[in-house]
Amino acid sequence: MNNNYIQEEHRIFRSTLRKFLEKEAYPHFEQWEKDREIPRQFWKKMGGNGFLCPWIDESYGGLNADFVYSVILNEELEKVGQGVSSGICLHNDIVTPYFSTYGSEEQKQRWLPGCITGDLITAVAMTEPGAGSDLAGIRTTAVRDGDHYILNGGKIFITNGLHADLIIVVCKTDPKANPAYKGISLLVVERDTPGFSRGKKLDKIGMHSGDTAELIFEDAKVPVANLLGEEGKGFSYLMTKLQQERLVVAIQCQTEAEEMLKITMDYVKNRRAFGKSISQFQNTQFKIAEMATEIEIGRTFLDDLIVRHMEGEDITKKVSMAKWWISEMAKRVAAECLQLHGGYGYMEEYEIARRYRDIPVASIYAGTTEIMKTIIAKQLEL
Ligand SMILES: Cc1cc2nc3c(=O)[nH]c(=O)nc-3n(C[C@H](O)[C@H](O)[C@H](O)COP(=O)(O)OP(=O)(O)OC[C@H]3O[C@@H](n4cnc5c(N)ncnc54)[C@H](O)[C@@H]3O)c2cc1C
Repeated sequence: MNNNYIQEEHRIFRSTLRKFLEKEAYPHFEQWEKDREIPRQFWKKMGGNGFLCPWIDESYGGLNADFVYSVILNEELEKVGQGVSSGICLHNDIVTPYFSTYGSEEQKQRWLPGCITGDLITAVAMTEPGAGSDLAGIRTTAVRDGDHYILNGGKIFITNGLHADLIIVVCKTDPKANPAYKGISLLVVERDTPGFSRGKKLDKIGMHSGDTAELIFEDAKVPVANLLGEEGKGFSYLMTKLQQERLVVAIQCQTEAEEMLKITMDYVKNRRAFGKSISQFQNTQFKIAEMATEIEIGRTFLDDLIVRHMEGEDITKKVSMAKWWISEMAKRVAAECLQLHGGYGYMEEYEIARRYRDIPVASIYAGTTEIMKTIIAKQLEL
């Protein structure tokens, strides 16, 4: 990779991170997949080494690092496995930025230091059993009662749902608002909030070590001091922050496609059939050439997007393009790579099997492929 936004300091950071992951993550990852859990201790070790939210300001204990550090964290954690990247990068680059941008000074001081050390794990709860893509259709309500909001409703498919200490819950403080999105607010629910409970850990087809759960709010008492930003502005906050969320998913998918191709190149060079290496069959070469081309196209588009995002450009259209195209490309790469592994590709002990199971969710969460296309069409003024 030859991304020109990566400077010497970033290379040093990547090398330090890799050494850390080779010791603390790679040897344990298969066990975490079997246990269906990333131990909290790993979060603490990440935090202890400066790998959680390094972008946060030094005044809260962060490193004031630029977005390239986040890119590197996303890439290196994705190489370990999607089960570990999805939860930690969601915490690093998706949830905590809400605190930093919309939180009051008191909230930032209360929450950001713990997010950096790993003492506080975060989640964002938008999706409900009855509303995913149609975010304005959520039914969770928060009714003001003195110094508290009384929160009622349920959320589903929430990443970090079981471990989370702080959850940004998307709710309606004005259920009668017209249009509906104007009634949406963001409330931060803390671990021991009365009336808040967690459902079972959800049984996924992939990302087995990932923590995905249901959340239940039954007259949960949330202090008014935990309202993020202003009442009724939640939807616009989400629309702003979803852009980086989609960029993060695109970075993970691009890395995933690059990893799968690498694994498969090694495999086809070593596997023999009909007296020669299977890499010598024209079909294998064409498939690999096609994948390498798509991966290069994805990388070029993505690198340009990363630079535009760092320059503060509105990337709504381009990031929606990247999110759907790169996630779908990674799914195609997964299927072709598995095919080139033959029967071994279907065996759990081969890495490609896990990556093939993990990748399909990327075209679903953070906005489905179809929703990305509706956004692009709107941006094109259709
Ligand atoms: C492992 C995992 C982790 C997740 N983590 C989180 C999380 O941390 N926080 C969170 O809030 N959510 C999370 N989600 C939820 C995820 O964001 C939703 O599943 C997603 O937004 C889709 O919503 P849905 O499942 O309700 O599907 P639906 O909205 O019911 O969609 C079903 C199908 O209909 C299509 N569709 C819907 N509307 C349209 C339309 N207007 N035009 C064309 N097609 C349409 C969709 O594209 C999809 O193909 C996670 C999901 C999974 C599986």
